[in-house]
Amino acid sequence: MTYETPPDAEARRAIAPVICYPNDTLPAPDLALFARARAEAVKCGEVLVPPRDAASIEVPQGGFLRISSVDGPQVGDLNLFHRDDLSERFYSGKTRALHGTHITTGERMWSSFPTLRPMATVVEDTLGWYGIDGFGGSVHDVIGTRCDPYTGNLLAGTQYHHCCHSNLTRALADARGLTLVEAERHVHDVLNVFMCTGFTRDTGQYFMKASPVRPGDYLEFFAELPLLAVLSACPGGDCSAEHSSDAAACYPLKMEVWQTPYAALEGWSPPAANGYDRSHGR
Ligand SMILES: [Zn+2]
Repeated sequence: MTYETPPDAEARRAIAPVICYPNDTLPAPDLALFARARAEAVKCGEVLVPPRDAASIEVPQGGFLRISSVDGPQVGDLNLFHRDDLSERFYSGKTRALHGTHITTGERMWSSFPTLRPMATVVEDTLGWYGIDGFGGSVHDVIGTRCDPYTGNLLAGTQYHHCCHSNLTRALADARGLTLVEAERHVHDVLNVFMCTGFTRDTGQYFMKASPVRPGDYLEFFAELPLLAVLSACPGGDCSAEHSSDAAACYPLKMEVWQTPYAALEGWSPPAANGYDRSHGR
């Protein structure tokens, strides 16, 4: 079926867009306070995430989490949970609505309903210089979901067990003593750490390209809540060609955690749960 182009088509296309969620009323993070706290923070943990696998680490509230590239260009798929309540978890879609397709210094990872509050704030991003390239690509996206074996099976009939979805499921099961079936229910859409992605301008398709990350680069967060961080070193490696197979060169990622002395957090308040009364009109 074809539809006739209306005579005012160009006029309709020419209407300027309006930002869906103007974020100038979002409470701004106090990055100077976080920098002072970071100077006092003491390292308290570290884990190496093996290639094509995942690992977890807990981050104390008011502490810092750093994710680093170590041996070679590698992207990571990050799930965040409230340490004491797995039902409060990272909400990729709402983070995208509030901050746009990619996040960097000063932007937050927001939690699911009904709390909808900052879980972690980006305080350092050594790839902050990248910006948006000529293809519309940028780094650390909240547009991808996570590579998973179901989509692979749908598109190619494969049974591949080291997609980020499965890696995250195994690591969460190990961290919390859950069965794989129980753990899988909690795995959610990720922050694609170091991944370079965008949408093609002509067809609107999700694209990826070789990550600009190099060993030594890192993304660091302030933990607004006590966190359980679960990170998968994606089987796509730097995601220059494909994922969902063992074809790409893959490298480990490092997660490090710092604890902040109470006194160094003077002036900071933990985020309260969202203020909506939850009566939903009844
Ligand atoms: Zn992946």
